[in-house]
Amino acid sequence: MTTHAPHTAQSVTLPASLDEAVAALAAMPAAVPVAGGTDLMASVNKGLLRPAALVGLGRMSELRGWHYQDGHALLGAGLTHARMGRPDFAALIPALAASARAAGPPQIRNAGTLGGNIATAAPTGDTLPVLAALEATLVVAGPGGARREIPVTHLLAGREMLAPAELIGFVRVPLLHAPQVYLKATARTGPGRATTSVAVVLDPARRGVRCAVGAVAPMPLRPLEAERWIASLIDWDGARGLTQEALAAFGEYVAAACVPDPLPPADGGEAPQPSPAVLHLRRTVATLARRALGRALS
Ligand SMILES: Cc1cc2nc3c(=O)[nH]c(=O)nc-3n(C[C@H](O)[C@H](O)[C@H](O)COP(=O)(O)OP(=O)(O)OC[C@H]3O[C@@H](n4cnc5c(N)ncnc54)[C@H](O)[C@@H]3O)c2cc1C
Repeated sequence: MTTHAPHTAQSVTLPASLDEAVAALAAMPAAVPVAGGTDLMASVNKGLLRPAALVGLGRMSELRGWHYQDGHALLGAGLTHARMGRPDFAALIPALAASARAAGPPQIRNAGTLGGNIATAAPTGDTLPVLAALEATLVVAGPGGARREIPVTHLLAGREMLAPAELIGFVRVPLLHAPQVYLKATARTGPGRATTSVAVVLDPARRGVRCAVGAVAPMPLRPLEAERWIASLIDWDGARGLTQEALAAFGEYVAAACVPDPLPPADGGEAPQPSPAVLHLRRTVATLARRALGRALS
């Protein structure tokens, strides 16, 4: 790990286990955890952050892989985007693999981790809409070996926070054994941050379609009514196909839910027309949602 920051941390601790890392953070309240450093060191280099001490999470082998439990995969927070992009992981959770492959250039994917992506909680975070659509939960480690579980979306929405010295240990993801798709629009060709992203996940056991839209709001949005409506049109015991009209209507439904019209003024006047930027965003969301569902069903 290198930095050009003028003020570097006074101490760097490299624990070998999750509980040791939590203990190190509890012992040094001013210390900050660092995984791949791609977000954190960018803030340090910009002078936005001057951590007095760092607790490096890179040596914790238990967080770099995954294991299975009750029909779920427990993904270590230290899984890199590069690792999640590989074929064996893609066979397990295809949309998460696709989002990891879409996250930045190769240097970033080699270092950046799942836990860092979640903890940073940037609206453009590529894994976040996928985790929202999968209804994933976080296994949070705290002092004294404590573990608690919270939905990823609660952390992203600020409904629940990480307490001091707590770390994201694992991400619990259901194994649905069904098609899932992640699509991303960027403002330029080549790697770039999402201007819009859409994850669509089929859940045949519950006869459900789950969709989440990223980058258009501070956290991923779930268009629940659109999900229920389109799921009711699918012949789950048959070919599972939908007409082009139904796919297009799903796209419009998702876009209207996630990029709403401007509100009327408080004094009761007429609502302003949506700006060209809003109309463009809505078109992009509609297109991605239509394509993602079409691919999932094809
Ligand atoms: C040039 C560039 C391009 C990028 N492009 C993309 C992109 O296209 N898509 C995208 O999604 N992201 C992108 N990123 C952002 C970044 O790479 C990802 O968010 C990455 O997943 C962060 O992981 P990390 O391990 O590097 O986190 P770090 O930088 O190590 O940590 C980030 C934050 O998370 C905290 N943290 C880390 N691990 C844990 C944990 N286990 N528990 C609790 N807190 C933790 C740290 O304290 C810190 O506050 C880009 C970054 C750069 C610099």
